[in-house]
Formats: sequence, structure tokens, C-alpha cells
Amino acid sequence: MICPYCKEEINDGAIKCKHCKTNFALSQNVTKAGGSATYQKNANVAPIWASITGLVLGIIAFLASLNDSFDEDELIGLFMIAILAIIFSAISFANKHGGRGMAIAGLLTGIVSFILALGSI
Ligand SMILES: [Zn+2]
Repeated sequence: MICPYCKEEINDGAIKCKHCKTNFALSQNVTKAGGSATYQKNANVAPIWASITGLVLGIIAFLASLNDSFDEDELIGLFMIAILAIIFSAISFANKHGGRGMAIAGLLTGIVSFILALGSI
């Protein structure tokens, strides 16, 4: 076979190149470990954070919308919280990993709050 690093001919199944001294077993493990760490960070941490934020904002908006005497500023604030709850829940929906139940709850409370806020205009 050919060494992928220096392109010299080496023995089949060699774990170390005799020309450039590259250790193939070692360099493969490093690439794998680095790749999986990056995958876990992107796949799990971010969407759970987004769905928790969406759920918390959805609950706040829902509790606020149960109050039926709003002035104009309070209504605008309620709309913004409800819209943010929908956006954060939608972000976590877009990624398939983790926090899906919370994203659904955040989406529902956000939409219900938005409708309740529309009803009290
Ligand atoms: Zn080599």
C-alpha cells in the first residue's frame, strides 16, 4: 500500500510508515475522538438549551396571558415573550436530538399565549 502522508510504498497493514515515521493507529484515534466530541457538543447541548428556553418563555407568557386586564405596553411584552417561546421551540425542533417534549410544550404554550393575547386586544 501507499503511505497517505508521504506517498511512499510501505508494507500492507503497516501501523507505522518507515519513510516519514507517521503512526497510523495513533493518528486515526485522535481524529475519531476529536470528531465525536464536536458531534456531542453540537447535537445535544444546544437544542436542549433552546427547548428549555422555549418552554420557560412559553410558561411565562401563558401565566401572563391568564391576566385579562392589559395595557398596551403589557400586551406588546406578552406578544414578544410568546413569539420568542415559539422561535426557541422551533429551533430545537429543527434539530432531531434531545428536548423534543419540552420543545412541544414550549411551542404549545407560546401559541396559546399568542392567541389569548390576540383575544384581549
Ligand atoms: Zn510516510
